[in-house]
Amino acid sequence: MSWYYGVDGRSQGPVEETTLQTLELSGAIEWNTPVWCAGMAGWKPYGEIFRRPSVQCHECERSVDQEPAIRYRGLSICPRCAPLFFQKVREGLASEEAAQYCGFWIRFSARMLDGLILAALTIPLSILNQVIIFRTYPLTGPGAGMERFENTARLGEFLTIQAAFVLISLVLGFAYEVYFVARFGGTPGKLLLRMRIVRSDFSRLTYGRSAIRFFGKMLSDLTMYIGYIMVGFDPQRRALHDYIADTRVIKRDSRRETRA
Ligand SMILES: [Zn+2]
Repeated sequence: MSWYYGVDGRSQGPVEETTLQTLELSGAIEWNTPVWCAGMAGWKPYGEIFRRPSVQCHECERSVDQEPAIRYRGLSICPRCAPLFFQKVREGLASEEAAQYCGFWIRFSARMLDGLILAALTIPLSILNQVIIFRTYPLTGPGAGMERFENTARLGEFLTIQAAFVLISLVLGFAYEVYFVARFGGTPGKLLLRMRIVRSDFSRLTYGRSAIRFFGKMLSDLTMYIGYIMVGFDPQRRALHDYIADTRVIKRDSRRETRA
């Protein structure tokens, strides 16, 4: 029996049935390629004549051979559509993944909140500091005016007190950050905005790593905030200190957070 087959609307052949099978293996003939032989009323799909199981491709909606079609989440994809389809899947997964990380502005807002909370603690301290300054170097009364700068008798004591205040503020900032991040997974500012700081595997930070991140943050501050601006360009929204401590800032409701 001599067969004819249609490619791009043009009739090819005649060929023997064994040639058809060879052409099918090479991909030149597919399930829905029209074939015809003498005695047939009209053209019919190759797969229908040769009783091959077919599936509908999710992408191009053609009937295709079940055998080389790829199954993905209950969908059938023909080999021709597969590369483009899986590229779309990858892009979809990538944006799904990116969506769980916190961007620049929400992180900026969280930092402002933390700044306000810390200020509530440090402002009374700095008021106390000012009181000490004015008691040591009064603006009025004896020893006031230019004279107060010449009073060096209590300079050592005064500088010690100043250094103590700087140290207390630093320790307070350190303790605030390290304790809350390791204990609760975020500073109060971040927790209020439903954010969490995690490791790259979504586990919680230890106190040690939380401390490393704190010092990394100081480095981010020293880079004129370039360390923060990086967040806007990094696919996983990492700041410099996230790189240093191998951490990520995620949305608290994100799907993968439950694994932590
Ligand atoms: Zn297809």
